[in-house]
Amino acid sequence: MATLGIPQNTIEILQKYQFHFQKKYGQNFLIDTSVLERIIKAAQISTEDCVLEIGPGIGTMTQYLAETAGKVVAVEIDKALIPILEETLGPYENVTVLQGDILKVNIGELAEKYHKGKPLKVVANLPYYITTPIIMGLFEKKVPLDSITVMVQKEVAERMRAKPGTKDYGALSLAVQYYAVPQIVANVPPNCFMPRPAVGSAVVKLTCFEKPPVEVKSERFLFALIRAAFNQRRKMLINALTGAGGIDVTKDRITEALEKLGIQETIRGEKLSLAEFAGLADMLYNGSGEIRSSEYDI
Ligand code: SAM
Repeated sequence: MATLGIPQNTIEILQKYQFHFQKKYGQNFLIDTSVLERIIKAAQISTEDCVLEIGPGIGTMTQYLAETAGKVVAVEIDKALIPILEETLGPYENVTVLQGDILKVNIGELAEKYHKGKPLKVVANLPYYITTPIIMGLFEKKVPLDSITVMVQKEVAERMRAKPGTKDYGALSLAVQYYAVPQIVANVPPNCFMPRPAVGSAVVKLTCFEKPPVEVKSERFLFALIRAAFNQRRKMLINALTGAGGIDVTKDRITEALEKLGIQETIRGEKLSLAEFAGLADMLYNGSGEIRSSEYDI
């Protein structure tokens, strides 16, 4: 029976273990049963599913997941939480807790071990200090994924789903939309957490594509191009790209490519769709292009 969503029960368990919140781990625990129910509903979990939970905390959401999924694997970095999780998740035989840093876990191996390599569903109330590396890491490592349903900072959720020409549109929007369809399923105020975060939160569901919506010669070059375009987003695209590190293209080649694609020479990167970036990337591709997942946070 899931009970930790009730604030009094969370307080009791924290006091029993004399737990101290660690700011460096982004610890804000959920204490609102209606938010928990909405996350579970949005994730569309059944007994056929294996769920990866990132950062179970004291196991509040894990209890809900255990009651709906076939299998739950939860990865928690904070060693002080492990004895608490042993107590709160003790009654659930379908839960495995692993202590470690999610950024260092081989999730492909984990999918193989616990779900015969079939796509996982990721569900998490993410530690906000590493939201982008976690999500981009899942996508870039080509982990078999069905969907990612996560609590993130509200502004980050807005950036993920932003469309061309809007203020929130940027490298993160394009990277996420290359791999998945983003949908905000709930806005969550600070009073639903203990302790209260300084920012508003939102639950976003990313439904993963089997195959990206655009095809390119080099994904690395596409993302290097996107990053260069948004590094100096107030500049015209042509100026932002000329001589930019990681792509190595001349102004003449960019002018020619834009003309062939029927895109105005004066355009800014923030107006280009994913399909237009893909077209431009293929015309300019010359075998270079480097990007790391941490670089999407612009
Ligand atoms: N799921 C719990 C809840 O909803 O109440 C806790 C969410 S809290 C926002 C984030 C959790 O992620 C914390 O338990 C924190 O210790 C854990 N965490 C932080 N960094 C992590 C990392 N690199 N790998 C795994 N867990 C991490």
